[in-house]
Amino acid sequence: MRKTITEQIRQDATTFTPGEEAAIRRAGDLICGGGLVAFPTETVYGLGGDALNADSSRKIYAAKGRPSDNPLIVHICRFSDMERIVSRIPETAVQIADAFWPGPLTMILPKSKAVPDETTGGLDTVAVRLPSHPVARRLIEYSGGYVAAPSANRSGRPSPTSARYVLEDMDGRIDMVLDGGTVGIGLESTVVDLTCETPQILRPGYVTQEMLAALLGRVDTDVTILRDDSGQAPRAPGMKYRHYAPKADMVIVEGEAGRVADYINRHTAQDKARGEKTGVIGTRENLDRYRADVVKCLGGRKDEESIARNLYGALRQMDEEEVTKIYSEGFTSEGFGQAIMNRLLKAAGHRVVRV
Ligand code: AMP
Ligand code: MG
Repeated sequence: MRKTITEQIRQDATTFTPGEEAAIRRAGDLICGGGLVAFPTETVYGLGGDALNADSSRKIYAAKGRPSDNPLIVHICRFSDMERIVSRIPETAVQIADAFWPGPLTMILPKSKAVPDETTGGLDTVAVRLPSHPVARRLIEYSGGYVAAPSANRSGRPSPTSARYVLEDMDGRIDMVLDGGTVGIGLESTVVDLTCETPQILRPGYVTQEMLAALLGRVDTDVTILRDDSGQAPRAPGMKYRHYAPKADMVIVEGEAGRVADYINRHTAQDKARGEKTGVIGTRENLDRYRADVVKCLGGRKDEESIARNLYGALRQMDEEEVTKIYSEGFTSEGFGQAIMNRLLKAAGHRVVRV
């Protein structure tokens, strides 16, 4: 097993000290040489390799244990760099980039020959994102401009929101981690497909359907995002896999707060009697009600940004504390809430109880 080097970058640094600059340059050199480096973005930590090098993409799949039909997102640091990897740039892509780039949004576009099939999982389209995180952008620049970067977790696990969680999954499997503290958003980018007549959201994120529709007029959403009984395969290959999942069994409980707490307390009492270690993922308003072994707070119920930022960490902490049965409050599926519920539903294998 090789040694994974950790380099520290100050959280929220927008300009870098000479030491940080040198660390990011070393990281870029590693990627140019075919190595793998995990780095912070505004969404979650990414696992970066040279997107134009088929071997690098193969290494990413191997390090993550990711099925090779699940394509990677190519990260760029300048809009004009898209020309090399996309065969045709539609007007909608320009509009979206003007409004939301740099930022937590990924576009699916027809790929050029420069992008190896390994990077796109054999598809003739490519996913492109221009992130806003200063460390990510500098690293992409030093890496030659095209960094394939899925989330830096082992496949199926919650995406890492800090370098500590990256190392939990990847220590010894990758060359370096740039540790830039905890990330801001905490959920992966919105993925929007621009290769169909009407743009379609394949994965919800911080940039919502409402925001895209205000810009483009009509925007569809893949029906599989919040339902698993639609009988249809998701259009983003990655969305068909069990994902974001803690090791424990998990159920989402929806309804009026008092009834939710009653249901959870009744069930955690039964679970404990059977020898299970129980956990609850809840919000500040309701925390006092729960009597499980471990209770994690995501923030205030109305504070979606806090809920999103803390969700994956809470799921990982449940694993660390060896919880075997998790109950989570449910959330609204409107706006950014749709991204939160999409990840929660996947983590719970779509098990929802309404009380
Ligand atoms: P991750 O890299 O873990 O953030 O996941 C990237 C997501 O984007 C996965 O759900 C992929 O299946 C999806 N994706 C990447 N490239 C494409 C593409 N060319 N067409 C459709 N979905 C894609
Ligand atoms: Mg991922």
